[in-house]
Amino acid sequence: MRDLLPTEMATWTRLSRAAADLCARRGYAPLVTPIVEHTDLFTHGVGAGTDIVEKEMYTFKDRSDRSLTLRPEATASAVRAYFEGGLNQRPQPARLWYEGPMFRYDRPQKGRYRSFRQFGVEAIGDDAPGLDVEVIELSGAWLRECGIEEVTLEVNSIGDFKCRPGYRRALQDYYRPHLAELCDDDRRRFETNPLRLLDCKNPKCMPFQAGAPRTIDHLCEECAAHHRAVLGLLDALGIAHHQNHHLVRGLDYYTRTAFEYWDPGHGGQQNALGGGGRYDGLAEALGFPSTPGVGFAMGEDRVVLSLQDAGRTEPESGPQVSVVPAAEASEAPAMRLAARLREADVRVVVQHGRRSLKAQMRQAQKLGVSAVLILGEEEMASGHVAVRDMLLAEQSVVPEEGVRAAVAQILGGRLVPVGGAG
Ligand code: AMP
Repeated sequence: MRDLLPTEMATWTRLSRAAADLCARRGYAPLVTPIVEHTDLFTHGVGAGTDIVEKEMYTFKDRSDRSLTLRPEATASAVRAYFEGGLNQRPQPARLWYEGPMFRYDRPQKGRYRSFRQFGVEAIGDDAPGLDVEVIELSGAWLRECGIEEVTLEVNSIGDFKCRPGYRRALQDYYRPHLAELCDDDRRRFETNPLRLLDCKNPKCMPFQAGAPRTIDHLCEECAAHHRAVLGLLDALGIAHHQNHHLVRGLDYYTRTAFEYWDPGHGGQQNALGGGGRYDGLAEALGFPSTPGVGFAMGEDRVVLSLQDAGRTEPESGPQVSVVPAAEASEAPAMRLAARLREADVRVVVQHGRRSLKAQMRQAQKLGVSAVLILGEEEMASGHVAVRDMLLAEQSVVPEEGVRAAVAQILGGRLVPVGGAG
């Protein structure tokens, strides 16, 4: 599993802020659920026959011998919380969003990690096609707000429990003569979850995908009408999309609308930035009353990767000012001075510890601050502070009450340098 280090966190913060802001403006409320759940939640909710349940879950026994799993995704948890927290008693649909770490045991590679973070929304309690389009619009707005420019929206309908069995049979009929030519995984999927055959990335199997039957040719009238309404609204709102008749979702509980964002710069489908869709069958699969829902999960790690490759990341925002207590008794006054500047929204550190002034100045240089405030013996005695402008390499002694203005002048005239050496 990986660490996210300070150098990239400013970019992550931009993603989180965009999520919170866009969701608030659309009436989506934040939801936090635990990162461990009973294993059953995922085996029932994500579905046996999916890669996640078959080979990607971190499952362990707790001290009471209960089987727990680190969450591989959050939709099942959101639906559980919706019922257990009484959100089903409030006005419907419940509009929820979350952000946080997910865990999947997979071979780590670029863009695929064992711990990764998702931003997602779930709109639960309504089956209107307009809600599908609402979450699609929200996910697209979030990608744009994060700075992702080139992305394609792939849309499909995978039907529901009424019409999907017919499609599954058509798919099996199509693949049956080719079984010997498929990879081992696909031969297994042929029985357990044939829709996943369309998702296989094995070069042996991919040539068969283009000619496979299309989901939309097998939709029942209700699913077809829902799909037409979704596409009509996307067109009316000018949301560019590509109808992808082979897009399926790996999770069993999905119904009707399925969508994904592909990053053409990163191998397209191989590196979906996120996806979502309708899951009208999920609540029932978890043992709750049948309740429709629609949502998405966006992969924040992949969005950050894409921004890094495009050189569009946020610089780390290190401290702007450091305060050096250079006299015997100046540590407390230095900390008070720092506190006053922080009230004015300045990012300030105090350089604690007994080092020579020269060493302290070298340290300030490495921190990349714009101004250093020095409280030496002389300054302490006269109620003054030495203020050094690091870029101009100029130093002046100002009375304590003038420090704020002096700092503002140094910071105001130019951009604050980025933290770190140089
Ligand atoms: P899923 O829940 O499988 O539909 O995944 C939604 C999004 O989460 C994907 O499109 C990826 O962007 C991201 N994602 C899924 N698995 C991983 C992983 N192992 N590492 C990084 N990102 C992931």
